[in-house]
Amino acid sequence: MSENRPDILDTEVMFLKGVGPRRAEVLNEMGIFSLLDMLEYRPRRYLDRSELRRIGEVDVDAEATIIGEILSVRLHRRGRRRLVVRVNDTTGVLEATWFNHAEGFSRMFKAGQMVAVSGKVSFYRAWQMVHPDFDILSENREQLNTGQLIPLYPSTQELKKVGLGHVALRRIFHEALKRYGEQIPENLPGDRVKRYKLLSRRETFHQLHFPESREQIEQCWRRLKYEELFFLQLLIALRRHFELQPIAGKKVALAAEKVGEMTRHLPFTLTGAQTRVVEEIRRDMSGGRVMNRLVQGDVGSGKTVVGLLAMRMAIAAGYQAALMAPTEILAQQHYFNIEAFVQASGIRTLLLTGSMKASEKKAAQQAISAGQVDLVVGTHALIQEGVDFSRLGLAVIDEQHRFGVLQRQALISKGGSPHVLVMTATPIPRTLALTIYGDLDVSVIDELPPGRQPVQTHWRTEERLPMVFDFIRDHIGRGEQAYIVYPLIESSEKIDLKAATEHYDYFCKSVFADYRLLLLHGRMSMAEKEQVMGAFKSGKADILVATTVIEVGVDVPNATIMLIEHAERFGLSQLHQLRGRVGRGGRRSHCILSTPPALNEVAQQRMMIMEKTNDGFVIAEEDLRLRGSGEFFGTRQHGLPDLRYADLVSDQKIVQVAREDAFAVVEGDPHLRGVGHQGVRRHFQSRYRERFQLPGIA
Ligand code: ADP
Ligand code: MG
Repeated sequence: MSENRPDILDTEVMFLKGVGPRRAEVLNEMGIFSLLDMLEYRPRRYLDRSELRRIGEVDVDAEATIIGEILSVRLHRRGRRRLVVRVNDTTGVLEATWFNHAEGFSRMFKAGQMVAVSGKVSFYRAWQMVHPDFDILSENREQLNTGQLIPLYPSTQELKKVGLGHVALRRIFHEALKRYGEQIPENLPGDRVKRYKLLSRRETFHQLHFPESREQIEQCWRRLKYEELFFLQLLIALRRHFELQPIAGKKVALAAEKVGEMTRHLPFTLTGAQTRVVEEIRRDMSGGRVMNRLVQGDVGSGKTVVGLLAMRMAIAAGYQAALMAPTEILAQQHYFNIEAFVQASGIRTLLLTGSMKASEKKAAQQAISAGQVDLVVGTHALIQEGVDFSRLGLAVIDEQHRFGVLQRQALISKGGSPHVLVMTATPIPRTLALTIYGDLDVSVIDELPPGRQPVQTHWRTEERLPMVFDFIRDHIGRGEQAYIVYPLIESSEKIDLKAATEHYDYFCKSVFADYRLLLLHGRMSMAEKEQVMGAFKSGKADILVATTVIEVGVDVPNATIMLIEHAERFGLSQLHQLRGRVGRGGRRSHCILSTPPALNEVAQQRMMIMEKTNDGFVIAEEDLRLRGSGEFFGTRQHGLPDLRYADLVSDQKIVQVAREDAFAVVEGDPHLRGVGHQGVRRHFQSRYRERFQLPGIA
């Protein structure tokens, strides 16, 4: 089969029957260029005729969908302007009425059309639906196809303007499948299609647009999901195969006993999970290839010390190590903790953040490039120009989810392929991690240090705040400390949020007048933040009123209460991160989520999940479920194509299978030239040309 033979599916939409230049232009703007794009256009839903009601059977106040023929379209101009469309389904007549935009709607309907209308039924002289949802199904009765299931497509203003409603789309699909259907090539390995009993590709498009049954629609989706995920994983597998050949790494050959010695000076014993991950890192770095490892561990699981030990290994082998954190506060905290840990070892440390004076930065940069420091902790300032490590052996990136791929790359580029360790407290399921961070190995710290008491979480509506304040005073009376967190730092007129600054003033004057309060927010200078954090940590204040700047890293074991105001404004993972600031000492800690009384369903679910569990993995899964994977990490940000049919979270099982299949294909036949792979190769090339170029093509 010739490589250059054009695929029938590459036919431009412009040449399809029913698509002229104007329609083609609109379709192109929607990203639909070829017959394939067209056939993959996804129905929004299917109208199932077996679930329809007949007008003769409807009840007042019931929700119903009916299909019928339009008898008349009348725009009443006297009195309140309204449009009345009378629909007949042979068992009765129903009036669909519009008061708003009556004129505009009136132009859409014509007598003789078949329509579906959905809404609440009422009765006023006749059966009525006011402002129903509607779909025009055909221009006249004869045209309506006889299938039980009618696909409904997304519609936009632009589509409407060029008359591309369901009717026109169905006609285009019908013509296209009639003309080209027989020639649509299979694009999956034949043995997989057989093994999983997938519909053929041709049949899939047919069923997608002209389904015979619910069962067929499901089969068709099953195939499309697998196909989409197979090619996504194929992209990852090919990149891994051709681009990420093991790179020679800086050898950090350190015996396990040496690492054991380092841990002896720590103020605590490592947990089993920490020990396991440290060993994985040691093996990676001594293997001669570059390490690329992601460490996932819940808030408080002790990732810092793991990163620190990795850095100490690199330093012991004569390299420099860098730790990059997403905020100045966190960088600062890491720096102080690390300094305390390595004090006796003679390791030279340095802090580099954006808010340092230019002269200080300059001095730091010089020390780094002259190799006068071993361990550098910093923020984004680390990846700025002027920073040049003389011998960077390891780059550690804390709270990976706060950085993009590019920033990770930027740090790595500072040191001629250093080992890379990224740490995150936002765990994601393993298959997902492998897909999103396709090039990383994953370690999990699935154990908390001993003696931690789970944080008790309580959801309270705002009117109960006075009781919450009593509760806080009570605990302060026992020598404990509290955080009060707000979503924003200044109130904006648009979003009526309580702001940290305003509340700080208010608290100082009233509710907590007898207590010592401090304020912390993102617009303060580094020196101010440092001073505030230092004072709070050393017990010089009872309450820290703060914005989410304290989300990550802040570590004050004596703080046992966290009140989060407007908790409904935060996502689940963020709430969990915030909550992780308490429960760090031996004492029982509490997190109070305060919200307005009226909350939408999803927000309520979030609060209940927070009350129910302290497990970051469970929370991450729930977060994914509530938000969908797309929004959670934006596949595009990771350089992956958008998914139309599959979902990385809810279709995890298919992800797993597709991954195994795609990796097996690449392992056996990386150039996709083998028997049964032509279709795969062709589809891959026409779809993923921009993302990955298979080698060896003239
Ligand atoms: P995270 O994983 O959220 O970054 P940290 O590294 O900040 O967690 O650790 C949280 C707290 O637990 C710190 O105070 C740290 O010193 C402490 N810690 C870490 N490992 C252990 C351990 N094995 N035993 C006791 N405390 C530990
Ligand atoms: Mg941390």
